[in-house]
Amino acid sequence: MTNFIILLLFISSFQFSISNRKQNHYDQKQFEEIIEILKIKFTDELEELISTNYNIEHHNDNPKQSENYESEVDSNDHVDIKLWNKLNEKDMKKMPVIDDYSDEAMAMQWLTWYIPIEQRHSQITTLLNWNYETNITEENQAAMTAQNLIRSPFTRLTLPIAKKFNEHMKYSKDDDLKRIFGRLASGIVSFNDDDVKRASKLHGQLEDIYSTTKVCELNDNKKCYTLSPYIERLMQIEKDYDRLLWAWKGWHDGCGNKIRSVYLPYIDLLNKNVKENGYHDLAESWITDYEMGSVVEFEGIIDQILKDIMPLYEQLHAYVRGRLCSKYPNRFDCNGPIPAHILGNMWAQMWNDRLDDVIPYPDTPLVNITDVLIKKQFSIDQMYTTAESFFTSIGLYPMTSKFWARSMFRKPTDRDVVCHASASDMGYHDDYRVKICTEINDDYFYTIHHEMGHVEYYMAYSENQPYVYRGGANSGFHEAIGDTIGMFAISPVHLIKLGFLQEEAVNSHYEINFLLRLALQKVAFLPFSYVMDKYRFLLFRNEIDREHELNSKWWALRIQHGGIMPAASRNDEVNFDAGAKYH
Ligand SMILES: [Zn+2]
Repeated sequence: MTNFIILLLFISSFQFSISNRKQNHYDQKQFEEIIEILKIKFTDELEELISTNYNIEHHNDNPKQSENYESEVDSNDHVDIKLWNKLNEKDMKKMPVIDDYSDEAMAMQWLTWYIPIEQRHSQITTLLNWNYETNITEENQAAMTAQNLIRSPFTRLTLPIAKKFNEHMKYSKDDDLKRIFGRLASGIVSFNDDDVKRASKLHGQLEDIYSTTKVCELNDNKKCYTLSPYIERLMQIEKDYDRLLWAWKGWHDGCGNKIRSVYLPYIDLLNKNVKENGYHDLAESWITDYEMGSVVEFEGIIDQILKDIMPLYEQLHAYVRGRLCSKYPNRFDCNGPIPAHILGNMWAQMWNDRLDDVIPYPDTPLVNITDVLIKKQFSIDQMYTTAESFFTSIGLYPMTSKFWARSMFRKPTDRDVVCHASASDMGYHDDYRVKICTEINDDYFYTIHHEMGHVEYYMAYSENQPYVYRGGANSGFHEAIGDTIGMFAISPVHLIKLGFLQEEAVNSHYEINFLLRLALQKVAFLPFSYVMDKYRFLLFRNEIDREHELNSKWWALRIQHGGIMPAASRNDEVNFDAGAKYH
């Protein structure tokens, strides 16, 4: 606290002393010192200053963890939405007067005003999203919309200013100013409250449809299942061709068709919004985030990567198709694309759950992690502590008390939630969480490591970076961190350490089997993810005829780039299979 006051005094005296000077006339060393202090101190000290005694209402999903950790976690230590909004309202009025956008000291002064307000907004938004995704109700949806309406005027005020500063700061010799304003200026704001309300509502509907859609038994429409956990698992372990077809068709018809009427107006709205902000379309705004050159350059790089991987993918595809053709004779053309429902995954995006059917050396099967977990009577909690000890064993961070006390580790039985696994940086003190409807099996063993990988990355940059730099290098990089770690977690070396696998069992055949398993998971994924964005970019650019090829275009791309075809006949007037995938 004392440090913070000293810092404030330091900043204001600095601001006072430079207020009438022009660019570059101030003491460069003093300026650098301020930036340094801002980096290290500003955010945390500010948070300390505004911590309060507000009581959070959070669901107790973690009985075991709560026993151990609730006493360690101060229940008052959290974002206080009402107070944060009040502070923001007050601080908004104190924006420094700007008379020269080329003045670097003025730019700094403006940032010291801007950052705390922006940070509080971001903390509130993250918390409200968490509340909605872990408890889908109209009330929580309304709270998000209301907050978006509160936040919009601030962004409408500050974005044009950030852009004006950026026009000068992009030539600055100070890398921090250049970087910070470059990022701020690429932001997006909606200038119309009705659009804000509509976008928020449509987004909520997408989450709702995806999380609550059920697939019912053909002969019993009272027996119905949500995607997670039943249908999702069925796609992984069921071998019966027709049963798989039932689940695939049920989910794609049930979810995709409903999503269609929400997703299209939603992206139209987002597209309109980014255009108002100077982007050509939504695709350009997404690509800008990667900072990998122009749209053409970026897409060129990605096209080349896919091209490079294709010879390997084609071999993998041909091998798997041959084996599945023998397993399901006369079900599909053995020289054509593979039907999407027999690859061990609802979207045919990863094929590793089909390893048993295509294994090159059946005499040396890979250890069945699901069996080991069950045999060792692993609890869900143990799956998490095992993952945590993997991270600490390689010198990374243990999870925080708040992680254990506030995460959602199980699918609740009393309410609807978004089960799509995710990790959240609440942006406040050491509050990091995951939301996973965990089941005890090998896929969740992997997912837990992946999501915890995100948390490790959050912790690394929160500890070492100021607020403005707390984010992934780009959205793809965050996933790469999680996945690299997930891959090591299932490696034979690590499984031996855990006592899941006997060292003697690992020979050259075992290694080949393991490498194929990795290829089924990782190589198979590349054309899928490529098509996902390729298709969306076409849609954003209005290059798909929505009446006649909305669905068939999706499948044309999947056949062209991945050799995967729909499991059943599709109809362009009602189906929207791309919408049956979360993201
Ligand atoms: Zn991820």
